[in-house]
Amino acid sequence: MAILLSCALAASILLHAHQIFAQARQNARLLLDLHLVLEAANRISSERAPSNILMDSDADALADARVRLQGFRADTDRALQKVQGHVVPAPLLREVGPRLTEARWLIDLTAMQATPHYGDVQRAIDAMFAAYDAFQEAVAWQASQLIQSDPSLQGPVLRALALCDLRDAAGRLGSHLVAPLASRTRIPPRNLEDRHRTDERVAMQWRLLELDDNPASGKQDMARLQADARVRFTNEGLPLIDMLLAEGERGTPYSLTPTAFTKRYSATLTPLETWRRIYLDQLVADYQDRESKAFVLFVVVLASALVIVGLITGIVLLVQLRVLRPLLEASEAVIGLVDERPVTLHLRHHSAKELQVLFNTLDVLKAKLQERADLTRRLKAQAETDELTGLLNRRAFMALGKPRLTTTGKRVFLILLDLDHFKSINDRHGHPTGDRVLVAVADALRGNVRPGDLVARLGGEEFAILLQAREPTTVLSRAQRLRTALRNLELTTPDGESILVTASFGIAEGSQRTWRQLLAEADVALYAAKHTGRDCIRLSETDTPATT
Ligand code: GH3
Ligand code: MG
Ligand code: MG
Repeated sequence: MAILLSCALAASILLHAHQIFAQARQNARLLLDLHLVLEAANRISSERAPSNILMDSDADALADARVRLQGFRADTDRALQKVQGHVVPAPLLREVGPRLTEARWLIDLTAMQATPHYGDVQRAIDAMFAAYDAFQEAVAWQASQLIQSDPSLQGPVLRALALCDLRDAAGRLGSHLVAPLASRTRIPPRNLEDRHRTDERVAMQWRLLELDDNPASGKQDMARLQADARVRFTNEGLPLIDMLLAEGERGTPYSLTPTAFTKRYSATLTPLETWRRIYLDQLVADYQDRESKAFVLFVVVLASALVIVGLITGIVLLVQLRVLRPLLEASEAVIGLVDERPVTLHLRHHSAKELQVLFNTLDVLKAKLQERADLTRRLKAQAETDELTGLLNRRAFMALGKPRLTTTGKRVFLILLDLDHFKSINDRHGHPTGDRVLVAVADALRGNVRPGDLVARLGGEEFAILLQAREPTTVLSRAQRLRTALRNLELTTPDGESILVTASFGIAEGSQRTWRQLLAEADVALYAAKHTGRDCIRLSETDTPATT
């Protein structure tokens, strides 16, 4: 259970760590994709500056602008190529290509005019705006992918979008002036309206961006980059536009050509562009770093989980081997001791030291139980044995003999015998000699019965034998043999006087009788034998001397 639970716990922690890692990996990948998408958007937006210059009538600048523009267009195409299909679904980009182609065609067409018309320039610029706007669907799609995947990314993603949009809108502010500048006309109301709209857009993005000045944990100082961009744009970029607008509204010649204006104005946007680029780079790097950290965390958790599960498994196995198994063996041993089975108390050398105490105690218990068992055995033997002769006593004889009357299928007989005139042996030779006679008689009886026969001393000089036989005659002959054996005992007193031992025998059959009846009938037969003259055998019921 402990191993299973620790495995389950480790698995759930691992799963959680893996989820964190998988999320971090997905975030890093999607952010990288967003970076590519925003880069493509920025490329479309950046293409406007060299386009503006190309449409300028300044012949000196034309050749240079054409080369630069080719480079910008190639960059845009490459950026779009990276995004198309791989990152953003192609249908979302279907408007972008034709719009861009149209815009470039209009720009190239306008560039061929010696003095470009306001309408042509503005149409070309509007087409560039349209190409950028067409791409916004892809930007929105990619941003929503990220936010759906991890809502906590909403802040950084919206900030990146705001930054890119600010960069575009700031550029547009300049582009609104290019057509009047290139055609050397007054600023038409439409351009003023566009400028106001874009102004509001710029102001809104600044406000959004100022809500949080440093979202990405950065190596670069974002706040400083933001401040630089703001100062440069507000103090240099906007006054430049205001100055040209004022000139355009007054109807006086413009003090700057489109080329000069674009170059100066673009320069004021450089810190904004740097800020945008560094912010995005850093955002991607930050989440790639998180992915690496999540991976390291996952590996550490995996290794820790393996170590912990291994340790717990080891501990459990060790406890089982060193404690539980010896305890079970001890428990088995205790049951064995209680059941008086032979028990070996063997403490394995790898068991815990503390269990030695238990096994020592069990050793003591085993010795005590052994002692008690010996004592019980001795007491039982004493309780069953006649102390003088070692034969069964009356109680044991009954306990063992009584069941034989009912359980054995064969005929059971009782031979009861009583030594003749034993009192006189005592009287003449002393009590110890009488005892010796009793012992000798017991040995003689024991030596003349068959295995399975029960021999007992019922008390005094009275003995009994319980045996099985087919016929009473067999019993008679066996009693006869016993009688002869007693007679043949060669006993002498310490003075060398020989002692003749005879006994009277009474025999009764146990079948259909109780123990008490059997004893009584044998006793009657014995009494009859005594009465007849002793040293003879009498069978119950027959009352006829079988032998003398
Ligand atoms: P009978 O032929 O009628 O049986 O005469 P008996 O003398 O054998 O019978 P009685 O009952 O008169 O005497 C039995 C004697 O056995 C009396 C007693 O002192 C003696 N006796 C009983 N137990 C022991 C014993 O353990 N040791 C000795 N030495 N004598 C015992
Ligand atoms: Mg007697
Ligand atoms: Mg007697």
